[in-house]
Amino acid sequence: MSRIDLHLHTTHSDGSFPPSEVLKLAKKASVTALAITDHDITSGLPEAMSIGQELGIEVIPGVEISSFDGRSELHILGYCLDWKDPVLDERLGTLRASRHRRNPLIIERLRAAGLDVTYEEVRQMAGTESVGRPHIAQLLMKKKYVLSAKEAFDRYLAEGKAAYVARELPRPDEAIRWIREARGVAVLAHPTWIKDGGQGFLGCVTALKEAGLDGVEVHYSTHSKSQTSGYLELAMRLDLLVTGGSDFHGITKPDIEVGYGRGDLKVHPRLLDPLKTIAAGR
Ligand code: AMP
Ligand code: ZN
Ligand code: FE
Ligand code: FE
Repeated sequence: MSRIDLHLHTTHSDGSFPPSEVLKLAKKASVTALAITDHDITSGLPEAMSIGQELGIEVIPGVEISSFDGRSELHILGYCLDWKDPVLDERLGTLRASRHRRNPLIIERLRAAGLDVTYEEVRQMAGTESVGRPHIAQLLMKKKYVLSAKEAFDRYLAEGKAAYVARELPRPDEAIRWIREARGVAVLAHPTWIKDGGQGFLGCVTALKEAGLDGVEVHYSTHSKSQTSGYLELAMRLDLLVTGGSDFHGITKPDIEVGYGRGDLKVHPRLLDPLKTIAAGR
């Protein structure tokens, strides 16, 4: 049964498999089209596209941009964007630079807690300019300070934990504008991350729509059936595009598989045409 997967990470950000391996896993999972959505970087796209051609898998150019609305960290996925656009490239560069300002502060806090780690080690392990907390988690695993990435986040790296340091992030409306100015389609990733403030969930998504949001990631690895149907209803009510993906990362999220999420994810290929139609109008 064919399926698509519009949310995948590679070694070009904090995933643990290179694009070629992700594509091979997608082939095994009967994925006919996919989007590589690395955090703040598009350098994995040429390899993904060339392997996609070999394997007969359609590769949609993508990116995932973290943003902060004052209450919640919201991730905005950009699809079908002109990823060679120099303005986009410069904007993504500023986001990667903010990672390099934050990460050494996280390392300082880990060292203060008695862990023998350096940022140089993290950078070597990451092998990319888009260095994220999952890379730090991987180093803690390698050095046997923790058994899993989950433990690294629960003990040190998650918001509110001893080594948590916030990073300068754009507002969601800026992230949306950056994607649209690169002629891409902007989609709210994993909507469960919205912290229900005074404005409420519906108010938050309505404001994002007014800022130019095109769609919402209705189908997602961790969604329960009732969450999926709730987000589907929301998308229909606000006339937003419906998308979906696994958010595959490899070893830092070991329970998530390409195309299948935790086993019951199914993103239907029919969702692709409406996305492409919006992109064609940009
Ligand atoms: P960063 O972009 O460096 O702030 O790192 C955030 C990324 O870490 C998210 O996009 C997820 O991919 C990952 N992440 C967040 N929480 C966890 C967790 N509990 N376990 C594994 N990975 C996580
Ligand atoms: Zn990630
Ligand atoms: Fe995300
Ligand atoms: Fe992601």
